Amino acid sequence: TQPIERKPDWLKIKLATGDNFKELKNMMRGKTLHTVCEEAKCPNIHECWANRTATFMILGDICTRACRFCAVKTGLPTELDLGEPERVAEAAEQMGLQHVVVTSVARDDLADGGASIFAATVTAIRKRLPMCSVEVLIPDFLGNEQSLRTVLEAKPDILNHNVETVERLSDKVRARAKYRRSLELLERSKKIAPSIPTKSSIMLGVGEEWNEILQTMDDLRAVQCDIMTIGQYLQPTTSHLPVTAYYTPEQFAELKGEGMQRGFNHVESGPLVRSSYHAHEQVKSAQQA
Ligand code: SF4
Ligand code: SF4
Repeated sequence: TQPIERKPDWLKIKLATGDNFKELKNMMRGKTLHTVCEEAKCPNIHECWANRTATFMILGDICTRACRFCAVKTGLPTELDLGEPERVAEAAEQMGLQHVVVTSVARDDLADGGASIFAATVTAIRKRLPMCSVEVLIPDFLGNEQSLRTVLEAKPDILNHNVETVERLSDKVRARAKYRRSLELLERSKKIAPSIPTKSSIMLGVGEEWNEILQTMDDLRAVQCDIMTIGQYLQPTTSHLPVTAYYTPEQFAELKGEGMQRGFNHVESGPLVRSSYHAHEQVKSAQQA
């Protein structure tokens, strides 16, 4: 398929400004914290922060992997920052967050892949903000089951791990990750902690076929995944994977219907949907299920 250059109108968004927003940004700099909202220039940042949702990226901003869709820097990460969990919790408190997503770069250089820092972050947020829901969006920890257990023992409200794309394109789009290993992680999570809802996302526009999207839904349901999010891939720079298609809002709506029919508790599907978009609502529907 040929790459497409021009973005359709429904992807044009206003950039967030305003005093409150700037204040939050400065606070983040002061604490040397990273949010995906900022780093990934997420189009939803204004709406999400106003709705008291943010995604923190822990374990540094340098990744040991280099996925072809991702704008995060690749390299050898610096040492472990043991004060980070507490600073994330402090920032979450200052922002008055009601839903925090905690994610990280892939730290294949660490024996536990950073699982203990994930767990410590969940615990630190719980302590300061008992009413705030916490979602972890974890890497695959190279299939390390003990790392997954460590994270689940901290009892996050949602265990999120993205398959990112359909099986056929997985090796091309993601670095070192394996489609089946990701499904296995979601399956294991359900076995270890059945009461914690699981969630996964895919992005569209990297060369997948419609029936492969439906197959991915079936694969996720086969491992009892509860929540799915589907969004449009946007090329971060011209050296990243090109966009092969822009799906229309109607197609995203159709996919939501397909997902709900398959038994997901919640499907968030739309051009600007990101893994953590409307995450707070997803906690509610998962709890009601
Ligand atoms: Fe941040 Fe996620 Fe919202 Fe984007 S969708 S602004 S990354 S919380
Ligand atoms: Fe980006 Fe995650 Fe891939 Fe690292 S593992 S390059 S942070 S998508």
